Amino acid sequence: MAAGEAQADCLFCKIVAGDVPATVVRETKDFVAFRDINPQAPTHILVIPRAHYPNAGELGAAEPELAGTLLAEAAAVAAGEGIDETGYRVVFNTGAGAGQTVFHVHAHVMGGRGLTWPPG
Ligand code: 5GP
Repeated sequence: MAAGEAQADCLFCKIVAGDVPATVVRETKDFVAFRDINPQAPTHILVIPRAHYPNAGELGAAEPELAGTLLAEAAAVAAGEGIDETGYRVVFNTGAGAGQTVFHVHAHVMGGRGLTWPPG
């Protein structure tokens, strides 16, 4: 398997391919951003690279430039949703113990309400 190659059993690769529907809010040649199916905040969007990497650490190790651009994409999504002025959170759950359930790296971009700290 080549690094970044689509995985047949990956839900988010299927969204990238258009085989699973999603409410897409922004697309670039490298990224897709879509609304979370089970939102935890009034605005809850997932930003994913089209390339398949299991988590943020592996993306950063393999393609640091793409990982950096993912942060810029998250900011662009927040601005597009109008939550950049009030504040928003970007989260990468990494590993099952931290709540990761889909093993295709994704940034949660969340806002539209007050967000407390620490998270659960
Ligand atoms: P994780 O738990 O891996 O950090 O985040 C995975 C996220 O994907 C969850 O917030 C979950 O609600 C979302 N999700 C799971 N399945 C689907 C789906 O089929 N469509 C969309 N849009 N989001 C999904």
